[in-house]
Amino acid sequence: MRHLVWFRTDLRLADNPALYEATADGARVEAVYVDCPEQWRRHGNAPIQRDFLRRNLQHLAEGLAALGIPFTLLRTDRFDQVPALLAEWTAARGIDALYANREIGINERRRDQAVQQALAIPCRVFNGDCVVSHGSLTTRGGDMYRVFTPFAKAWLGRLRGSGYRLLPAPPRQGDALPPAAIQLEGELVASEAWLAGEAAASRRLTAFCREQLRHYGERRDYPALAATSSLSPYLALGVLSPNQCLAAIEAELGFLPLSRGEWGFSWLNELIWREFYRHLLVVFPALSMHRAFKPETEALRWDNDEQRFGLWCRGQTGYPIVDAAMRCLHDTGWMHNRLRMIVASFLTKDLHIDWRWGEAWFMSRLIDGELAANNGGWQWAAGTGADAAPYFRVFNPTTQGERFDPDGDFIRRWVPELAGVPAAAIHAPHDWLARHHPGHGYPPPVVDHGRARLRAIAMFDALKDREAP
Ligand SMILES: Cc1cc2nc3c(=O)[nH]c(=O)nc-3n(C[C@H](O)[C@H](O)[C@H](O)COP(=O)(O)OP(=O)(O)OC[C@H]3O[C@@H](n4cnc5c(N)ncnc54)[C@H](O)[C@@H]3O)c2cc1C
Repeated sequence: MRHLVWFRTDLRLADNPALYEATADGARVEAVYVDCPEQWRRHGNAPIQRDFLRRNLQHLAEGLAALGIPFTLLRTDRFDQVPALLAEWTAARGIDALYANREIGINERRRDQAVQQALAIPCRVFNGDCVVSHGSLTTRGGDMYRVFTPFAKAWLGRLRGSGYRLLPAPPRQGDALPPAAIQLEGELVASEAWLAGEAAASRRLTAFCREQLRHYGERRDYPALAATSSLSPYLALGVLSPNQCLAAIEAELGFLPLSRGEWGFSWLNELIWREFYRHLLVVFPALSMHRAFKPETEALRWDNDEQRFGLWCRGQTGYPIVDAAMRCLHDTGWMHNRLRMIVASFLTKDLHIDWRWGEAWFMSRLIDGELAANNGGWQWAAGTGADAAPYFRVFNPTTQGERFDPDGDFIRRWVPELAGVPAAAIHAPHDWLARHHPGHGYPPPVVDHGRARLRAIAMFDALKDREAP
């Protein structure tokens, strides 16, 4: 028997259900990755993520080669060409079955359906991206949860009942092979600041659990502290699995914290948010198609001012915490979660720009860009999503800065114009700058937050008027 493992967003050997199952019955296994540069461009993913993909593929190719598993990088432009390519490849190589882990975006699901129809062999698909399989957690009425807290309760109940399963890497299947050299077409931006490969991800996970896990709840909201795991780029490409995260928590604490208040629960809770958004994407494919979760919010009348959008993108809004965050994204391809919430709220509720613009901008810059979490985060901030922030809750960018970057350390790191501003003035620095550094070059606030907030609330109130008979 010959099995083909088709790698996608599951670039790891360990805890990879498709790879594990393909090798389980002693079949000869080979592997492919199908690169679709045009599809990548259409999805708007970031060049830095593409470079990170390339480097992780290289590690995967080397890992497979060491196990004696042949690996080939196939290329075609778009998803709609994949079925024919795989049909030809599997036929030419006498493959008996195809193994893959499920992907959840609508285009990926359509591609996979077409592949199943095009291939004359069985296609076996597994859950490799969530601890709890998509679609298996439902309300009593059989529907997907639309609110996080009951979803999390059900998720924790499942874990208490069934636990999680961690799969080993497959056994060696023959002599080591020379690894394929991985080249990807298209624009690449250097991602070397992030070590690639499973071993690097695993080291980062272990170090995080050892050094930060116990204090995550108190420290996670302060971007200057670097107290979160920074594992999102690995989870987004599947270099790391969520089961591996659970195993690392358990190894560190000696138990799995499944109740609020226990050590480490706050971090586990973020992994549940990740699963919540992934489950939603499966059940509501419209989320993959730029549609709001709350359909009534499609009628919101956004201003969509391109000039203001440009100021936001470049970190020139005159709100220090927003500008520091956006410049950090520009330079590193990553942004802290608290900052993502602040800048997303600012774009939608202060600048009144459609959340889809921000979602696309993030995708085009993030090394961890991932449809479910990005869409979930943006719709949460904009007030259009499942269990979203209430529309009248508008983050004040000045007080958010005061609370979460109290000394201004993060701001000074990314906004050099503010390097000399004392902590007391850094979140609203214009008066201080005018007195001490005329000609400082830091822009004035692009909007008055108080007025912008009222207008945002009015935009949502106008929706209620539309609904009234
Ligand atoms: C507007 C907006 C856009 C976002 N876009 C993305 C994105 O494209 N890709 C992405 O992975 N995350 C996204 N997030 C979620 C979150 O900001 C990042 O996952 C987190 O900042 C990554 O840092 P970390 O690995 O240190 O997280 P940690 O705090 O260490 O959390 C561990 C893991 O849990 C997951 N996670 C944490 N918070 C969330 C969350 N709120 N929603 C879903 N999963 C979460 C991530 O996989 C993360 O790596 C977005 C959030 C917002 C508000």
